[in-house]
Amino acid sequence: MKTEKNILIAFILNLGFSIFEFFGGIFTNSVAILSDSIHDIGDAISIGVSYFLEKKSKKGADKNYTYGYIRYSVLGGLITTVILMVGSILVIYNAIGRIINPVEVNYHGMIIFAVIGVVLNLIAAYVTKEGDSINQKSVNLHMLEDVLGWIVVLIGAIIMNFTDIKIIDPIMSIGVALFILINTLENLKKVLNLFLEKTPYNIDIDELKTHLLKIEDVEDVHHIHVWSIDGFNNYATMHIVSKSKNIDEVKHKIREELEEHNICHSILETETEICGEKECHPHLHKEEGHHHH
Ligand SMILES: [Zn+2]
Ligand SMILES: [Zn+2]
Ligand SMILES: [Zn+2]
Ligand SMILES: [Zn+2]
Repeated sequence: MKTEKNILIAFILNLGFSIFEFFGGIFTNSVAILSDSIHDIGDAISIGVSYFLEKKSKKGADKNYTYGYIRYSVLGGLITTVILMVGSILVIYNAIGRIINPVEVNYHGMIIFAVIGVVLNLIAAYVTKEGDSINQKSVNLHMLEDVLGWIVVLIGAIIMNFTDIKIIDPIMSIGVALFILINTLENLKKVLNLFLEKTPYNIDIDELKTHLLKIEDVEDVHHIHVWSIDGFNNYATMHIVSKSKNIDEVKHKIREELEEHNICHSILETETEICGEKECHPHLHKEEGHHHH
């Protein structure tokens, strides 16, 4: 509960500040501040999405969503990722234009905004400091990163104030935008891996199979499918060949082994003879609609 409240406070602070900052960027004519506002809007959305979708994603399974609503959190990640990518590409495009044709920037205004930025992000980092969830820890770490970003803008503004080197502003802006873009691409990769049902990064199918075959009375394991619902909850299905009289005991041991490999939910089909299907042969789309019930 405390975690949720702190995340809500961080959300409100970020959203309010990013709007304030957006107008600050226009007022001071600084693309560095503008790109930071894109960054903070992205932060606010991702915090908001994780706050609201976290609740939704905790809803249990029902007839329409038989896995539960947990993938809503992945959808939230995708939405945030797309917004951040578009935002940072626009910022880079604008900043390049300004390196070619430098424009006047209000340095004093920039310094004031940067000081406010440092202070507000420090407060946000402080209120999100205590909490229990991994989600919250990452929010807190992120706030500290943002403080550093603002310190860079502040130093840049002070240097420009004395030297009048105008391209420092677009260069800082590109730096911030590239930082966002690199993080975003990593996130996008994770989200796409989930949608593509790639084997989770922390599961080695060969190793898993070797360990399963060591279990007493397990003759063969095939059709192993492992995927992740949200990056944390991993599911598996497989065929188990066993002639054991006590198949429940075999299944129990298999489930224990799967749990050691971070697989929390599994469907095991048992057979006494190998069924001959070593791997999957997915049907092509054109075969759809041939089902007559
Ligand atoms: Zn941020
Ligand atoms: Zn193992
Ligand atoms: Zn089989
Ligand atoms: Zn299969």
